[in-house]
Amino acid sequence: MNTTLGRLNKVLRFSTVDGPGNRFVIFVQGCNFDCAGCHNPYTITDCNHCGLCVRPCPEDALTIEPGPFVVVDRETCTSCDVCIDVCPFDATPLAYETTVEDLVEQIRETAKFISGITVSGGEATLQADFIFELFSTVKADPELSHLTTFIDSNGSAPRHVWDRLAPVMDGAMIDLKALDDATHVQLTAASNMPVLDSIRHLAGIGRLHEVRLLIMPGYNDDDGTVDRTAAWLRAIDPGTRVVVIGFRRHGVRRGFDYLVESSPDQMVTIGDRFRAAGFADVVVV
Ligand code: SF4
Ligand code: SF4
Repeated sequence: MNTTLGRLNKVLRFSTVDGPGNRFVIFVQGCNFDCAGCHNPYTITDCNHCGLCVRPCPEDALTIEPGPFVVVDRETCTSCDVCIDVCPFDATPLAYETTVEDLVEQIRETAKFISGITVSGGEATLQADFIFELFSTVKADPELSHLTTFIDSNGSAPRHVWDRLAPVMDGAMIDLKALDDATHVQLTAASNMPVLDSIRHLAGIGRLHEVRLLIMPGYNDDDGTVDRTAAWLRAIDPGTRVVVIGFRRHGVRRGFDYLVESSPDQMVTIGDRFRAAGFADVVVV
């Protein structure tokens, strides 16, 4: 019996964009970065039960109970996202706590149709104890042990967290928002020093599945920055799988209207620069 509860935003039973193959994806609630280009900002903070989203709910699915606590009637909720749109705190009243056992039962129902499990976010590693118990349980279960276990992370976790997870984690996908620390602070409100160290450390222990580069025009898309990023990654491991992702405005918070989308041509050019730098496994999204 595991005792640690996971704080989740949602679960997707099938996804082909969150790691290799078809995957069961767990999105945790809570993140320690505040990224300008975040596409799911309602996962950043925990609900403070202020109640501002209760009246706007068109289905009357939200109520305030003594505490106060905002409670959702999940039978009535239509997932319209109005509560997420009106929340001024980058939260959602729909986040919930669950057990490893509950998730494992859900995974068991899909196990024949998936190749693995990915924990994403929010920031997955903020709930490292829960992930360790989940992955350990999956690996120890004869019906589930064929499933691969991945983490999609902003890379902020210190080495001891990765070392704890490594025995039960098959790979990590790490976002590198900017090689230049000042730019990284502009884009995420956090330093990239732990991110760079996570990439280096995960490569060293054989757990770096891929590095994801979100291209934000005007911040990290100039040729010099792209080439310096490629050189830095190549020095760590030229066999690194590199995923180049063009920024899209969809889902980004109000107040970040100044951010510019990447063009498809620009993404192709950046992908080609990584290939020219010696990377064989480059994916442009
Ligand atoms: S989701 Fe946001 S608006 Fe709704 S109660 Fe929580 S903090 Fe307040
Ligand atoms: S998503 Fe939020 S606003 Fe929409 S029905 Fe559900 S609780 Fe109400």
